[in-house]
Parts: sequence; C-alpha cells; structure tokens
Amino acid sequence: MVSQELLDILACPSCKGELQYDRQHDTLTCLNRHCPFCGMPVDDSGVCQDSECGKTSTTFVGLRYRVEDDIPIMLIYEAEKLPLSP
Ligand SMILES: [Zn+2]
Ligand SMILES: [Zn+2]
Repeated sequence: MVSQELLDILACPSCKGELQYDRQHDTLTCLNRHCPFCGMPVDDSGVCQDSECGKTSTTFVGLRYRVEDDIPIMLIYEAEKLPLSP
C-alpha cells in the first residue's frame, strides 16, 4: 500500500501526468498518451517527444507502474504499456 502523502507528490515520470492508484492491484497508472515504442510523451500530431526515438504513432499507450514493498517503481522502461483505445 502506498501512503497518501507519497501519492500526493507522485507524477508520471514520462509526462508528469496524474497517476491513478489501484489499491486492489497495488499499481499506479498514467492514462495519458505515450509513445508505444519508448513510453515518452507524444505531441498532438502523435510525434514522440524523445529526441532519440522521434517516431510518429497512431496508437498510444498508458503506463502502469508496479509497487514493490510499498515503493512505487517509477521507471518508464519498467512500466507496463497499456494499449489505449483511440
Ligand atoms: Zn504519463
Ligand atoms: Zn518514442
């Protein structure tokens, strides 16, 4: 279980977006649009904002971070990519 104080200050490390805490599964999810290749944010045209990636996408993913020993693992490359409906 992640403390409310920690939840209040946590944000998605990719897009700085708001996270939704699933108490049942102990996961934190950001449902903003991220690049399906690297997990970084995309602009309104679907272009990845990571300079090394830079791919253009038409489908995007949310990011789900797991929690280990009450510590959220806020790493983009460790996050599970969730397909977002368009
Ligand atoms: Zn995000
Ligand atoms: Zn990318």
